[in-house]
Amino acid sequence: MMAEKAPVYKNQLIELTFEDLTHDGAGVAKLQGYPIFVQRALPGETGDVKITKVKKNYAFGRLLNITEESKDRVEAPCPIFKQCGGCQLQHLSYPGQLKHKEKHVRDVLERIGGLTNVTVHPTLGMEDPWNYRNKAQVPFGEEEGGLIAGFYAERSHKIIDMERCMIQHEANDDVVQLIKSIAQKYGIRGYDDKAHKGTLRHVVTRYGKVTNELMVVLVTKGKELPNKKNVIQEICDTLPNVKSIVQNINPKRTNVIFGDETVVLWGEEVIYDYIGDIKFAISARSFYQVNPEQTKVLYDKALEYCKLTGKETVIDAYCGIGTISLFLAQKAKHVYGVEIVPEAIVDAKKNAQINGMDNVDFAVGEAEKVIPWWYAQGIHADVMVVDPPRKGCDESLLETIVKMKPCRLVYVSCNPSTLARDLKYLEQQGFTTKQVQPVDMFPMTAHVECVAEVILS
Ligand code: SAH
Repeated sequence: MMAEKAPVYKNQLIELTFEDLTHDGAGVAKLQGYPIFVQRALPGETGDVKITKVKKNYAFGRLLNITEESKDRVEAPCPIFKQCGGCQLQHLSYPGQLKHKEKHVRDVLERIGGLTNVTVHPTLGMEDPWNYRNKAQVPFGEEEGGLIAGFYAERSHKIIDMERCMIQHEANDDVVQLIKSIAQKYGIRGYDDKAHKGTLRHVVTRYGKVTNELMVVLVTKGKELPNKKNVIQEICDTLPNVKSIVQNINPKRTNVIFGDETVVLWGEEVIYDYIGDIKFAISARSFYQVNPEQTKVLYDKALEYCKLTGKETVIDAYCGIGTISLFLAQKAKHVYGVEIVPEAIVDAKKNAQINGMDNVDFAVGEAEKVIPWWYAQGIHADVMVVDPPRKGCDESLLETIVKMKPCRLVYVSCNPSTLARDLKYLEQQGFTTKQVQPVDMFPMTAHVECVAEVILS
């Protein structure tokens, strides 16, 4: 029973015992059923808390000290862990993180989806859960001491200077440090968002882990880049694996990183990388999974759950640049991919071509509109894969799936809550969820990705 009135008040000092973690990694303590959320507190811990914000149905607090520590607690190795907020779980041991993610998925499936008998496997984690990101997007600015580049302090627009990010691939950090020193040397100013002045707004770097190719994107306020020739020369001389240097121009007052105009300053327009045997061209703005090693683990699992024999017609809804589609096309008769962003479909078609795959077709549009249209044209999927954004599948897409009756559905999800909601709907319409595999795509953060195997019962 929820209390009538909040059982705590602002600025109250209180000792709490934590029993759970939220989806974003905060500790949860309960007072007569009333939840209090506290960052960096772990289940099983007791600690002193200062209440910082009180709402009718919940409150937030700040952890002052821990009186009883969890055996899974570790010292967060990153020196800027608390200021940054990019990682939420560094204070939890890696095995503890994997266990938490598994439990979280199971709890949500049960609570939101009413799925009590589904097998949820232990989370597939990384052997080395650090330096996994293949892409960095680093804001540049000015401080009294000169040019800075780092991250925005939590809930603010203040840039905090940084040299290394522990979940970032070293190659990306090296690029950022190099650009910082080159910009200082040639007097290129960082962007000041308050005054809307300066030159360099962001440096975006992408790294192909398999190919060792690097892309450097300099996002500038205007077209001009002082000492452009020297800048390019120094980048190439210092980092010979840079294959592409691109300038993106973003003249707007906005938080959005990229502007509309992109020009190649040197080298190629794209870099390449592989997931398994499939080669992908990655351009400055195209979507590509940030942890390719775990992406392979995720897609292998999706492929396994598809149980393809080579005879199947497969539909890949929400296909992005065709990553899953091409992976499945290796084992299917034909794959149809659909995606709402036109540029992604251009990339998807190019990627099919690079890999010499002609048993795939891609269409631009909303999955919930294109798939019924395909159905009307006589394209009937034996197997369907969906990989929607956080909000999950559109209900009209679920209705279409029910009508199309594919023998199996593989649901790839980055949000267990909407996965649970959608699985519940499908269960009510004659589908059965057989198993769910959580995959750790973003170690140290609270995110968890899942693959679910669903069959027509
Ligand atoms: N499967 C891809 C991308 C998954 S991200 C991969 O693994 O790389 C989800 C994708 O769904 C995004 O590319 C987004 O642009 C797309 N999307 C969002 N809403 C959509 C809709 N209604 N119909 C089709 N695609 C949509």
